[in-house]
Amino acid sequence: MSNRSLADIDRQHLIHPVSSFRGHQAHGPQILASGDGMWLTDIDGKRVLDAFAGLWCVNVGYGQQSIVDVAAEQMRKLPYATGYFHFGSEPAILLAEKLVSLSPEGLDHVYFTLGGSDAVDSVIRYITHYYNAIGKPEKKQFIALEWGYHGSSSTGAGLTALGNFHRGFDLPRPWQHHIASPYPYRHPEGHDDAAVIAHTVSALEAKVAELGADTVAAFCCEPIQGSGGVIVPPRGWLKAIREACDRLGILLMVDEVITGFGRTGPMFACDAEDVSPDFMTLAKGLTSGYSPMGAVLMADHVFQAIADSAPEALPVGHGFTYSGHPVSAAVALEVIRLYEDGLLENGVRTGVCFARHLERIREHPLVGDTRGRGLLGAIELVTDKQTKAGFAADLDVPGKLSKLTWENGVIVRCFSNSVIGFAPALCCTEEEMDQIFARVEQSLDQLLEMPDIRAAL
Ligand code: PMP
Repeated sequence: MSNRSLADIDRQHLIHPVSSFRGHQAHGPQILASGDGMWLTDIDGKRVLDAFAGLWCVNVGYGQQSIVDVAAEQMRKLPYATGYFHFGSEPAILLAEKLVSLSPEGLDHVYFTLGGSDAVDSVIRYITHYYNAIGKPEKKQFIALEWGYHGSSSTGAGLTALGNFHRGFDLPRPWQHHIASPYPYRHPEGHDDAAVIAHTVSALEAKVAELGADTVAAFCCEPIQGSGGVIVPPRGWLKAIREACDRLGILLMVDEVITGFGRTGPMFACDAEDVSPDFMTLAKGLTSGYSPMGAVLMADHVFQAIADSAPEALPVGHGFTYSGHPVSAAVALEVIRLYEDGLLENGVRTGVCFARHLERIREHPLVGDTRGRGLLGAIELVTDKQTKAGFAADLDVPGKLSKLTWENGVIVRCFSNSVIGFAPALCCTEEEMDQIFARVEQSLDQLLEMPDIRAAL
């Protein structure tokens, strides 16, 4: 089939995630055909460097043959096993054990999902069930952060705090609340880590006091806010949040869908602060995108409370057909083996080179801020470095930049707030990192030459 007719069929029939229906019909798809390491090839044979690991998920890079072999072998042996009715499969059981051994102390129980959104949705359901089980049915309010992203399930998208996930969807629900993000670049005292941390803690305390401590179920956050524009809180922030949740008598859900599996350096971002949440959500790097899978890690005290609350014959009515899918579980076990077999270390090494590039590109006339941890980072563009003023939406900086970077042979994520996000695979070499930044810098120079952009400065 010709590439042209494929694109036409796409326009006619395929609804793309988070796309304007009309906008996509006008734009059409960029059809990707194959991948190898850090590189993607499109259907016309154009090769580009993927500095965003698909959708911050292909942490091991493309074309890892051992994963393909494991998946094929598992499909031959047993392509599917339900987890219902006490059935199970070896890969799902071994993966649960592996995740418990890798994750912070106290997270002893694993529920498998298909991705991150249904992991967050599962946490909301389990927390609701938990408070009913322990006789505190009034604790049903959830608090999350502005700029946060927690997927697009029907209620999880209400914890998300990005306008287009709410608009037209009757979200957030009345029991979903948001407090200010620890966004150092946009914080009046952003240079002072302690002040940024204290600000979130007091905002959380104030929100709990406003709602009534007896009504608040949980606080939900990403350790680094990804889809909001890679917002990196100061070190010590997550630990202070854990302590505040304990003081306030509310549960803590840490959403490590992006930050998990070496993305920020250690296996989990929680490790860097020695924090153990009551729930942790995982997806993306769990299988590196080779097969869909997410996971909820549940603290033992929550599990035991739910377990003790009902007679043995009464099931907890939460379950998916593909929970613990054996092929995805086998893939995840192999992906984790690759992380432990040198990829995590490579990620840390290349992360140093990434940080150097971020520091250097800060000098560019369009760049107001750069930030990152490990191999997760961002550049924020401004019209004026002093006032930190952003670009007007009608200049369509993200659209222009997506086009320029693609033409220059690199994929980055261009957010609506003129932030460029980076999440290269952990297999990235220093040479590839140099090339990524050369191509991004070239794109920024070209953007700067555009008359309407020049006029906005
Ligand atoms: N939580 C976070 C922090 C995410 O970044 C994402 C996806 N970008 C999700 C949840 C939702 O995951 P999924 O798209 O796999 O449903």
